[in-house]
Amino acid sequence: MTDRIMIARADLHFWEEPCISGKSGSGAVFFMGCTMGCVFCQNNKIAKSRAEISDANGEKKSGEKEDCQKLIDIFFALKEKGANNINLVTADHFIPTVASAIRRAKEEGFDLPFVFNTSSYIKADSLKLLDGLIDVYLPDFKYISDKISWDLSGCSDYKKIAKMAIDEMFRQTGRPVFYMKGDKDTEIKPCDYNDMDEDVLEKNEVLIRRGVIVRHLILPGHEKDSKELINMLIDDYGDNIYISIMNQYTPVIEEETARRIGHEELLKKLNDDAYEEVIGFAIENGIENGFIQDGETCDESFIPEFDPRGI
Ligand code: SF4
Repeated sequence: MTDRIMIARADLHFWEEPCISGKSGSGAVFFMGCTMGCVFCQNNKIAKSRAEISDANGEKKSGEKEDCQKLIDIFFALKEKGANNINLVTADHFIPTVASAIRRAKEEGFDLPFVFNTSSYIKADSLKLLDGLIDVYLPDFKYISDKISWDLSGCSDYKKIAKMAIDEMFRQTGRPVFYMKGDKDTEIKPCDYNDMDEDVLEKNEVLIRRGVIVRHLILPGHEKDSKELINMLIDDYGDNIYISIMNQYTPVIEEETARRIGHEELLKKLNDDAYEEVIGFAIENGIENGFIQDGETCDESFIPEFDPRGI
């Protein structure tokens, strides 16, 4: 990748955690390319740098190469559409350009929070370039086992890199704080947010202003790794972060690949019992701040259309 960013889609997105999407949606900018190469990638259409996307007429395009000014224009266009925040999805490899765009947008008066949505396979030093620019980090923590991360993503040092990255994210944002949309001065602490009445949450938009939400997608057959990982997050961060435990694994991996790498368990969805077991484990082990997905989400598709809309 070069300093010319490549974007596959920029549009309102409604399927993040409720405090990110709210009711109006998060302004998601999906970047092309990725620092990882997961065999089960839902977004592999765009995660590979040479991937092609089709526009609304089915015409093949290979993601547009854009510059900093174009990204700033996209931020303002998403705000105009009603986005609650700007959600930079897999922008890790474009950080210098993205940091310039955020800085310049802020100088022009742009006031929505910025969310950085990442695989966490990123050097802490790179994240330092975003210090003071990102309000909310939304990092994955995919595996704790080096063997599994090697088998499934081709990197045997994932745990070490991701841990250092998340430490840096927390250093930048501190503990989570939420606010009530329309009342910029509200400061809702995690303990109050967790106790909020469903009616209040239903009637209002309670959004995260700053903080770290670590996401963990449970892979079928890998519940043991999930439990160890969740335990480590609880031990290391306690209630200083939120942990979002996800069940939406969609088997897009090819059968031949799954067999070749010896991970045929990835050909199936996660079953409800396995998900409940991990959630029960997290509760028993003292998780305080978390998000879970309801039962039906594993039947839904969360794969957006990668036509170059919004660009
Ligand atoms: S980190 Fe996410 S986007 Fe990148 S290859 Fe893995 S699943 Fe795909």
